[in-house]
Amino acid sequence: MHMSFQSFDSHNIFPHIREQRGGRRERVAAVTGGAGFIGSHLCEALLKKGRQVVCLDDFSTGAVANIRHLAASPAFTIIPHDIVDAIPDDLPRFDEIYNFACPASPVHYQADRVKTAKTCALGVLNVLERAERDGSTVLQASTSEIYGDPEVHPQAEHYRGCVNPVGPRACYDEGKRFAETLCTDFAAQTGIALKIVRIFNTYGPRMRADDGRVISNFVVQALAGEDLTVYGDGAQTRSFCYVDDLVDGCLRLAASPPDVSGPVNLGNPEEITVLEAAKLVLELTGSGSRIVQRPLPEDDPRRRRPDIARARAALKWRPKVPLREGLVRTIESFARRAAETAVSMPARLSA
Ligand code: NAD
Ligand code: UDP
Repeated sequence: MHMSFQSFDSHNIFPHIREQRGGRRERVAAVTGGAGFIGSHLCEALLKKGRQVVCLDDFSTGAVANIRHLAASPAFTIIPHDIVDAIPDDLPRFDEIYNFACPASPVHYQADRVKTAKTCALGVLNVLERAERDGSTVLQASTSEIYGDPEVHPQAEHYRGCVNPVGPRACYDEGKRFAETLCTDFAAQTGIALKIVRIFNTYGPRMRADDGRVISNFVVQALAGEDLTVYGDGAQTRSFCYVDDLVDGCLRLAASPPDVSGPVNLGNPEEITVLEAAKLVLELTGSGSRIVQRPLPEDDPRRRRPDIARARAALKWRPKVPLREGLVRTIESFARRAAETAVSMPARLSA
């Protein structure tokens, strides 16, 4: 990993971009939160499309391991950076900014709620100001959490949500709602090109083992032979989207014409209760773990399923990976990672 944690200087780290000044310049995409779960898959997909990719991340929930395999590419650059601070001036001009920086798991976004709110407000403003300077298109990662504990089902983009502004989830739910407002007003006033994606529960390889979200928890617990922790009675529902499908939708949205404006839901409408998800993980892992109940967190949404009519029509997008298949891929990846970690542990620790 050259350059990743050293103080940087654009003359050293962007020679490839400078070299292209005389000829055709590849498009430069900045991905904030690029070392995170979704962000790392997005960086990979953008590199495959021939972009120069600049990953900006403060590594608060992201990991070098998620992007290590990309570091050898001369088209990939990592800048350790907290978006609550202004984006450094001496970076190349960004054609596109994918703003994915923000902790997404309730455990992590509630660990420092003020920081989460600042990331959604000041962080987004910094991204927008940079986009205005560079003339970049912005794709803002919003969330189904802006619908809160929804009173309508499934949730379409015109539904305005039911959110507790002072609850434990508010820093994130209200933060992301404010971010949508800020992005929309900023784009109206400055003319920057803006896309907003409302992401529903997404899962897949590279979620942290201690991420705290339900799929990673169940998979880690099942593989370790530990109890699967179902919060409440497990009757609450979610609709889980495999990460490759989600990234495909994000790329389509970013490339969509200007008349595709306003937020777009992306998610898999295959709805399942949390208890059913626990049983499915047990079946697919062949684990003998038990299912146990734990208290339901405050303000936990009872149900969630995306209405994706808009994405289907405007982006010609639909999720292709069924939950079973995505879970098998996820379980395999977690099992591989667990095996690698065990092998690389010093003998005195693993004994
Ligand atoms: P993640 O925690 O794996 O990734 C977030 C990344 O952002 C991490 O690499 C983290 O280090 C980085 N980050 C956090 N705060 C930062 C800051 N202030 N400055 C710079 N970097 C910062 O989470 P994820 O699941 O990959 O989510 C990525 C984005 O997608 C988030 O914006 C989240 O709100 C959105 N989203 C995710 C889901 C989902 O189900 N995974 C659902 C809805 C929305
Ligand atoms: N959940 C659970 N066990 C866990 C983690 C989460 O039963 O170990 C539940 C949680 O209460 C919620 C659902 O699973 O009802 C999805 O939780 P997650 O944190 O993954 O996403 P979000 O609540 O943000 O949709």
